[in-house]
Formats: sequence, C-alpha cells, structure tokens
Amino acid sequence: MTAVIDAYDAALFDLDGVIYLGPHAVPGVAEAITALRERGVKLGFVTNNAARSPQAVAEHLQELGIDATSDDVVTSAQAVARLMAAALPAGAPVLVAGTPALLAEIQAVGLAPVASSKDHPAAVVVGYAPQLTWADLNDASFAVQAGAVWYGCNPDRTRPQVEGQAIGLGAMLDAMRVTMPEQEPILAGKPRRPLLDETLRRLGAKHPIFVGDRLDTDIEGAHVVGIDSLFVLSGSHGVDELLAAPPEQRPTYMAADISGLLRPAVGTGDGPLDDLWRSALAAWREAGPRGTDQETRQP
Ligand SMILES: [Mg+2]
Repeated sequence: MTAVIDAYDAALFDLDGVIYLGPHAVPGVAEAITALRERGVKLGFVTNNAARSPQAVAEHLQELGIDATSDDVVTSAQAVARLMAAALPAGAPVLVAGTPALLAEIQAVGLAPVASSKDHPAAVVVGYAPQLTWADLNDASFAVQAGAVWYGCNPDRTRPQVEGQAIGLGAMLDAMRVTMPEQEPILAGKPRRPLLDETLRRLGAKHPIFVGDRLDTDIEGAHVVGIDSLFVLSGSHGVDELLAAPPEQRPTYMAADISGLLRPAVGTGDGPLDDLWRSALAAWREAGPRGTDQETRQP
C-alpha cells in the first residue's frame, strides 16, 4: 500500500504540537520517526523558537526517545543569523535582544554583538527571551530609529503554554512598532521563507514535505516555499480552523499525527470541497479524545 511519504525524499517537522506538547512527546512520534529513518527519508526539525540552542532542542528530542542530533535541528535564530550575514558586512556591529543562544548564532556567522544602541549598531535583532525587558525593547527601538536595520526571529504573537496563551515575540515586535509605525522588521521564521529555505538547503532535499499543526505559520510557510504539506491534528489547530482556512493555508494532506506520513493519503488539495470537509471530519473523529492536546489548542 502506498504511503504519503513514498512520494517524498525528506520530511520537515514543526516541533511544538507536532513532535511534542510542551515537555511531553505526542504519542507514537518516536516510533514514526524511527520508521521514517529506516525508509531512508531525510528528516529536519524546524522551530520558530529562537530561545533554545539546536543542541538543547536535540537533547529534548533524545529524552523523548527521538533519534536526532543538533545537525537535524534548525531554529529561527540560525535562519535570521544567515540572513543578516548575507546582508551585512563581516564584523558589523549588531545589537542582540534575545537569549545567549541567539547571541551565539550571531557570533557564529561573523557578526559582532554589541550591548547598547549607544554602540551604533548597523542592525538590531530581536528574539524571544523570557527575561527581555521594556528597557531592552526600548533600546532596540532607539537603535532602529537611529538607522539600524531591524530583524526579528519570528512573527508569532502568542506562545501556547500549559496555563494558557503567553505573549510571543510578535507581540513584542508590535510594541516596538508603536514607537516607529513606518518601520517593519525583516523576519526569518515561518511563514516567511528564510527558516524553511535554510532547512531545505541543509538537507539537500529535492522533494520534501512539511508537517505542521498551525495553518497560519506551518502550512502557509510550505505554500510560500512551494512545497507540499501535511496538517496534523495533534497541536494548535483543528478542523474548525481548517474549515475557515483561506487557500494559502490549506494543506496537501491531513492526519491525526505524524504517523499519517506512513499511511495512505487523506488528501485535501485536489478534490472538490465536499471531499475536503468529509476527509477533515473523518480525520478529526479518528484523532479521538484530544486529552493533553487541549493544552496547546488555540481558543
Ligand atoms: Mg507548532
């Protein structure tokens, strides 16, 4: 029997809501990853979260029983650093508002982190960090107002937490924008293309499929780079969001979780709309009780 993955040489995975939910693995994920590796499929793990290093993400995956190394992980911090290195002269001073993991990526591409807008940075990069303060955001804004190029790691306005929705980097960038409405940050994370381009380049994939749980970042991101997508119901978005999705956010396939890659396709791309809704509802019912999925489901 033909499986979805048979048509592809690589699979790229979003992490939260696809591979894990907070600290816990989505059930069955480790087995599915092992089966994909045994088929010789190239695998990449892609995250908009710039706060953790690829090494820290890989260690988390290994704790969940998933066969992955830091080379398999691509973060928006790496993608924004590559973008900046291509646009700025080597050694250019960069004001970094983010975690040590982001700072390390900026250093790794040959740019020179500085501590303050008073150091006349050529560019500013903002990434999510739990300790980021109003003073940090103000200083980053002062630098942009003085002429520095403004970069942001990802556009997510919220971050799903066990307790509810937390404020994401996109909202912090919105706060900066209030001080300079004419400015827009250059973004690296999904649904913008740099993060996915970086992953495809690293994997050397010819015909990849992207697997994600959010229509507005993952699935739209796949459309932006022109690759197929599998929408999984293990995370943030469900059938309600799929039914409301504009064409640029409609996936090629859908499944309860990533094991759908190893089964025959439930297509959403080609058939008439009635088929789309029918297959969506069938997959929704197949997913069964959502359990801990509620922790990351959007209202
Ligand atoms: Mg996700």
